[in-house]
Amino acid sequence: MNKHLNELIALAKNDQTIDSYAPAIEAADKKVKKAQKKVDAVQEEIDTLTKEISQNEEKVKSFDEQLKILNEQLASNAKKAKDISTEKEMQALSLEEDIAKEKMTFANEEIERLQGINETKKELLKEAEERLQARNEELTAIAEVVNVEKAEIEQSKGELFVKREELTRNLEQKVLAFYEKIRIWAGNTAVVPVKKQACYGCYMKLNDKTYAEVIKAEEIVTCPHCGRILYIERVTPEA
Ligand SMILES: [Zn+2]
Repeated sequence: MNKHLNELIALAKNDQTIDSYAPAIEAADKKVKKAQKKVDAVQEEIDTLTKEISQNEEKVKSFDEQLKILNEQLASNAKKAKDISTEKEMQALSLEEDIAKEKMTFANEEIERLQGINETKKELLKEAEERLQARNEELTAIAEVVNVEKAEIEQSKGELFVKREELTRNLEQKVLAFYEKIRIWAGNTAVVPVKKQACYGCYMKLNDKTYAEVIKAEEIVTCPHCGRILYIERVTPEA
């Protein structure tokens, strides 16, 4: 068989193995991403709860201030009442007092309601914070495993790249350039076997002349349909 073809097949197989690690790396990265997403979701929950609690506290504070003002108003009304002489003034003062008391009732009810809500929210916050810690621990554990996985992959890939260098060094520049050119569009299937007289890149049937050339393997033969480099897979005869 053509020496170049043999080397090309070896190179193509080596390249296929290098590329076959891509899904594993992708899957590893995905695992970390998924765990990170879980952390982010809980963090978002915490942020929302914290914001809501602080907003409610602000509201309670403003009702407290309102209560203080209304109390002062009632006290000053009580003083004024002593100096009132007419019925009309009396009625006006009494109306003012009724309104102030109504506002106080409302403010007190709102404070109680908001504090009740915040109590629930604080419980939810505590629970979310515990969950965040657990998720963070999960993330750290997953990241550790993934880092080991990726380091192993990188090492294997490194070895394959060394092998690739050796293979390309032995290969004629022209042949290598031809292969790389096909690889641009064919990727991992730049060099494909012929089975049942068909190209295993495009699955089209080869004419007899091309098929005979592939079998002879004296030259580098390309598929007349797709342009991939073809070879016959030699089955090692059984002993
Ligand atoms: Zn083809």
